[in-house]
Amino acid sequence: MKTRVHPPTPAALRRLAAALRGGELVALPTETVYGLAANALDARACRKIFTAKRRPANDPLIVHVTDLRAAEQLAEFNDAARILARAFWPGPLSLVLPKRPGVPAIVTSGQATVALRSPAHPLARRILRLARVPLAAPSANPFGYVSPTTAAHVLDGLAGRIPHVLDGGACAVGVESTIVDVTDPRRLIVLRPGAISARELRNALAQRGESVTVGSKPREQTLAPGLLDQHYSPHTPLNLVAHAKPKGDPNVGVIFWRKRRSRAARAATNQFVLTESGSATEAARTLYAVLRAADARGFAALVCEKAPAGAGALGEAINDRLRRAAGKRRRG
Ligand code: AMP
Ligand code: MG
Repeated sequence: MKTRVHPPTPAALRRLAAALRGGELVALPTETVYGLAANALDARACRKIFTAKRRPANDPLIVHVTDLRAAEQLAEFNDAARILARAFWPGPLSLVLPKRPGVPAIVTSGQATVALRSPAHPLARRILRLARVPLAAPSANPFGYVSPTTAAHVLDGLAGRIPHVLDGGACAVGVESTIVDVTDPRRLIVLRPGAISARELRNALAQRGESVTVGSKPREQTLAPGLLDQHYSPHTPLNLVAHAKPKGDPNVGVIFWRKRRSRAARAATNQFVLTESGSATEAARTLYAVLRAADARGFAALVCEKAPAGAGALGEAINDRLRRAAGKRRRG
């Protein structure tokens, strides 16, 4: 299969929306990472996502919608979920709620719940409006590898395996959405940290007079492979440290949190930096591009500095992804 990369022209957007309605896959930009989209109401189209990504069938998909009204067609909302959708949509927050019958089992891996999100990226929103169907869209990369934040990253992993990529430039947030299970409206569970913190969720609900607890331990029956010990991983073994040493073995790539000032550090070719300014926003935006660039160099190993304490919700999300990226491989 030949993979076509489309610039975001009005004609291309119409064509890609028609392709989605016709059951084809389209990789497209969202504000978090690039997603591999299919019509969420078409089980055959969704099956293609699992094939292209080599994704196991027990890893449920997040469904993208234009707004709360469209979301309510797919899941049973409670008051807490409505408050969160009104406060944070469009944006990087996925809500897990009891699904309605129209959602195919393949989307939810047979679970009674579905994850829903309304993306903020203007191109994702235009495609959603033109396609007039909800779009199931996990990250557009082979299962388990580093997520893509540019169209070139999508091609690196999926060229020849998908028909279309919409090129919308680099993603603004750079790490995947916060996922929160709202099935029990008094006891929320953050399944995956992202740009929106547990505290922001609690505050938004408190402002509307809802008092809730926010935990992070998934219910026993929850299938959430995004929470696997190993995920988001480069091929090169990765070690996490609080503070990396600037010099050392040229066969080891070193990823610093923040730019170093010493000339020796700047001259070394085995060194990478997540943020020039020390901001977690910038580090999140560059994280996956840096991991991919470092991985492509064929080092024997990578050492990466964790986000420092005080880097906020994004620092926590970055450290969550880095922990899994460094996680022990279960196979080989
Ligand atoms: P991604 O591959 O980034 O789109 O993320 C998909 C992840 O969303 C899965 O690996 C799960 O962790 C999570 N997810 C999707 N649907 C559900 C659901 N119904 N219940 C719990 N987690 C879900
Ligand atoms: Mg993924």
